[in-house]
Amino acid sequence: MAGYDAKTIERRWQQVWAEEKTWEVANPGQPGHDPDKPKSYVLEMLPYPSGEPHVGHLRCYAIGDAIAHFRRRHGFEVIHPMGYDSFGLPAENNAIKTGEPPREGTERSIASFQRQFREWGISIDWSRELATHTPEYCHWTQWIFLQLFERGLAYRAEAPVQWCPKDATVLANEQVIDGRCERCGTEVIQRKLEQWFFKITDYAERLLDDFETLESWPEHVMTMQRNWIGRSEGAEVSFRCEELDLDFPVFTTRPDTLFGATFFVLAPEHPELERLVAGTPAEAEVREYVDRAARESAEDRGAEDREKTGVPLGRSVVNPVNGEEIPMFVADYVLMEYGTGAIMAVPAHDERDYAFAKAFELPIRRVIDGEDEEIARDEEGLPYPGDGPMTGSGRFDGKGNREAYGEIVAWLAEEGRGESAINYRLRDWLVSRQRYWGAPIPVVYCDACGEGGAPAIVPVPEEQLPVELPEVEDYAPQGRSPLAAAEGWVATECPRCGGPAHRETDTMDTFVDSSWYFIRYLDPRNGDAAWDRSIADHWLPVDQYIGGVEHAILHLLYARFFTKALADCGHIDVQEPFAKLFAQGMITRDGAKMSKSRGNTVSPAEHVARYGADTARTYICFIGPPERDADWSDEGIEGVNRFLARLWRLCEEVEQRTEPAAVPAEPSGAARELLAKAHWAIDKVTRDFERGFQFNTAIAAVMELVNDAYRLKDGLYGSPEGGAAVRFATATAASLIFPFAPHMGAEIWERLEGGRVWEQPWPQADPALLVSDTVTLVVQVNGKLRDRIEAAADAPEEELLELARASDKVARFLDGKEVVKEVVVPGKLVNFVVR
Ligand SMILES: [Zn+2]
Ligand SMILES: [Zn+2]
Repeated sequence: MAGYDAKTIERRWQQVWAEEKTWEVANPGQPGHDPDKPKSYVLEMLPYPSGEPHVGHLRCYAIGDAIAHFRRRHGFEVIHPMGYDSFGLPAENNAIKTGEPPREGTERSIASFQRQFREWGISIDWSRELATHTPEYCHWTQWIFLQLFERGLAYRAEAPVQWCPKDATVLANEQVIDGRCERCGTEVIQRKLEQWFFKITDYAERLLDDFETLESWPEHVMTMQRNWIGRSEGAEVSFRCEELDLDFPVFTTRPDTLFGATFFVLAPEHPELERLVAGTPAEAEVREYVDRAARESAEDRGAEDREKTGVPLGRSVVNPVNGEEIPMFVADYVLMEYGTGAIMAVPAHDERDYAFAKAFELPIRRVIDGEDEEIARDEEGLPYPGDGPMTGSGRFDGKGNREAYGEIVAWLAEEGRGESAINYRLRDWLVSRQRYWGAPIPVVYCDACGEGGAPAIVPVPEEQLPVELPEVEDYAPQGRSPLAAAEGWVATECPRCGGPAHRETDTMDTFVDSSWYFIRYLDPRNGDAAWDRSIADHWLPVDQYIGGVEHAILHLLYARFFTKALADCGHIDVQEPFAKLFAQGMITRDGAKMSKSRGNTVSPAEHVARYGADTARTYICFIGPPERDADWSDEGIEGVNRFLARLWRLCEEVEQRTEPAAVPAEPSGAARELLAKAHWAIDKVTRDFERGFQFNTAIAAVMELVNDAYRLKDGLYGSPEGGAAVRFATATAASLIFPFAPHMGAEIWERLEGGRVWEQPWPQADPALLVSDTVTLVVQVNGKLRDRIEAAADAPEEELLELARASDKVARFLDGKEVVKEVVVPGKLVNFVVR
């Protein structure tokens, strides 16, 4: 008897799948399309091809592939494509360092990803493969840009931008983490540049509202997006500078505190600042202050505990509610990105205004009574952020501030001094990059067509797309795009007047490429259009999307925006791209994030070479609940390898010692026990798939089944009934392990049952054999009933805890808390003590 030879088995099945194009699915109207099958679009986030796939990729694609197989065997026509997010900085930075064109390094890496995905046996429809850096793909990225431009959703404006001095490029707000460049960690500075933006702010409300239409997204991902969009309700109120005849609108969420405004503050970037101080004694000091503020990050500037600095402007504005003149300041704790870049300061009721008033000895006037015991205040109980009756507020005195809120806004509106308003933290998406390795922005500038000295922005006509990247010698940005050096490429003909014109030299943020790739997969070879509308409508939305939680904001928000904009343009039918989202956890090693610099990375290629892909995939699914972080263990993968080898030996033995036979209808004794176990495993694995892909416990159930088969087999081989039971149990184990270990699952099934396991419907548990000994347990948090769960009567404590934690109703009360004690009374209750 040969041992478990993963290599031979895996090579054999990979060849079958490649030759028979097993995982390819046809579009509607094409031969092979089955209109009676329901569709299911299963998609993992496409990889960024840099070097080799890492263990995070293995986890993501192993999870996605298991889901794809599960759905196929439930009768769905599953579309499961793959591609590469192949523009971007790492390839370009490597090009700057080595001089090798980014295309070459990128394509080498893509080849490595392709090879490894095949070696992992991932069930990919290779006919739909794409890479975002190719001219074929760029063509349609540029076409989408022009679609947005036509509708005013892409525009050019001068803007203070976040600039990374090291990478010499503009960063999106989202790419600035704690004032530093997301990629290189360099402190970010501000600069003013003409930039391209997408008007995502037009969609802020819809991006919030449509969370309701999603089938299943993790709550924490939606919360992160909600906070990022940052909707707040309030009022816009105008303060007037009489001397200069200038109105300064402010956005406030607290119009009920208007009577308490004792000074007025502008952000250092405020466009009217220059006019206010030009030629005044304050000018020099303000200039210096503004320059210094430009070097600070928004996070630092806005921090509550930071010492407050600023400069008086020597000007004043009139508070519209009481006609009082209040002094103006510039201070860096006010951010241009929020509201209008100016605030009315109410030191009695706002922490930062209070700190500023103390530092500059400004009056503090209380306009809401009340006490707040939670936080230390000064002897008068200020600043007071809470509610209470209004005071010092004229006609509103004595009213509860919340009740008066609407009245004040209505009164302001009547007087023409303000109106209710909604403010968003979300800014428009800055998409231009002064970098080489991205999709060129498809516009040209023509002086002759321009007006008032400014050149006209002329879109490149569709028939001239794609605008391909020129060859350049030097990829390093010099404060302008490297494309600017390709003079022969930059100089072009104006599509409108035929005169001389020059091309836009900025390229697009790579997040643009990944905002629509899931639509291109559906019709990837279409040369006449980005996609055929009827094909896109058939497959969209993505039914199950899988990827890392690090994309909770950027990628997922941008893709949602693109989907809505494209639907508005009439190109697709859906408003949301991803009906269900699964966010996988991170794999760590020795408790730390893996990184090359720490030297603690795990190479999937090495482990696949050593144990086989089935072992690597099954282990990464067994390592823990897939949504949580988990720590890699070399003993763990060895253990899984031993399990698969044991299943393999069982198969070889069963093949020799039993004959294919019908399973007995009325089994008894050990045969009944083993068959019952097999049906228990079917039921368990199925339910684990359905309750959020709990693959670790699903695989554990198959292990239990194999253990029982070993325990009972020798007593069963003797009778036809017994032999049939062992054979059934072994084939069932193969069938259930197939989504995780597809090569072994396919091989064992073929040997014992004949035919292709993936063409078999997913097995169904026989209720007659399912021991109905499940019990209902109550789950408590700090002694309070939060949910009830069903569990097998003999389920171990660990499983009961696992089940209890998996309940949404329970998780809500555990989130962010420390569990100090877990109490399990088998058959009765689970209680978490938290603090
Ligand atoms: Zn940087
Ligand atoms: Zn022209």
